[in-house]
This record gives sequence, structure tokens and C-alpha cells, in this order.
Amino acid sequence: MKCPKCKHGELIEKRSIPKRDVGALLGLPAVLLIDAPGLQCDKCGEIITPGDVLEHVIRSLAAAMARVSELGPYEARFLRKTLDLTQSELAEKLNISRATVARWEDREQDGGGLKGADSYALRALVGTHFLGTWPKTAESIFSSLKETPKAFPPKPYQVSGAADCAATPA
Ligand SMILES: [Zn+2]
Repeated sequence: MKCPKCKHGELIEKRSIPKRDVGALLGLPAVLLIDAPGLQCDKCGEIITPGDVLEHVIRSLAAAMARVSELGPYEARFLRKTLDLTQSELAEKLNISRATVARWEDREQDGGGLKGADSYALRALVGTHFLGTWPKTAESIFSSLKETPKAFPPKPYQVSGAADCAATPA
């Protein structure tokens, strides 16, 4: 396969690429992908992260976010996207206004993000979303809903490898 960036090099499969920031691909500030498989151009060095690896990263991050009680605007948007819902659709599911969802995701205002009952409802929805395909992930989210609330740890996010499902913030 030809490199999409330089158009000359060949993309070579790599079992493990030491470190790559895939945040921009996911709409998050920084997500360090450590030792994950990928494709690398033999001429310009461009790295391509395959879709299935990104899927894994998305699931890992969503699960990590859904286990904490205080979510910022980036997390609010990321979780909604993971649920594959528009702001209006999410608002309808949670029986709130679209303006409320928009405010959660607003990065300009100090009022962005969500906690308390709002975050509980969104996290429960994420747990339900994973129930069919990733029951263990869903289970860990549901059990975190019963625990003492904890705020999200500092960024950047970090995901190691592609086979293991654990996303831990750096
Ligand atoms: Zn190239």
C-alpha cells in the first residue's frame, strides 16, 4: 500500500510503534498510544493507525471515562460520539434539553462538563451501550456507579498495546 502523505513510500506493517499521539483523530487533547501495531511509511516515516486499533482505543477510553463521576467537556462529547448519538438524540434519551447537552460540551465557558446525576445518567447509558458486546467493560462501569464518586485523573490519556483493554491516564 502506498503512503497517503508522500505518495512514494510503501506502508510497512509494524507490530509495535513505541509512541504516537492519536488525540487529534479522536477529538481529544492528547491520547498517547504506546506499543500498538500500525503502518509506517518506509520513505517519510508517516504512521497510520488502523481502524481496528482505533476502535480498541475508543472503547478503552470510553470505559475509563465512564468509571469516574466528573467529566469535562471533551469527555462529554467523546462519550456521546461513542454512543453514536447527536446532541438532540442524547438529550431525548436522558429527558433533558439539547441546550444542556451543548453546555456539557462547551469548552469556551467555565460551565462545561457534568457531574452528579447528569454524569450518572450518561455513564449508565455508556454501560448499557457496552452490555451486548463487551459485558465485562459494562460490568465495571455499572459497579463504578455504586462507588464513591471520584473526579477524572489528570490528562493525557494513555492506552498501551492493542490487545489489552485497560486505558489508564498517564
Ligand atoms: Zn510517506
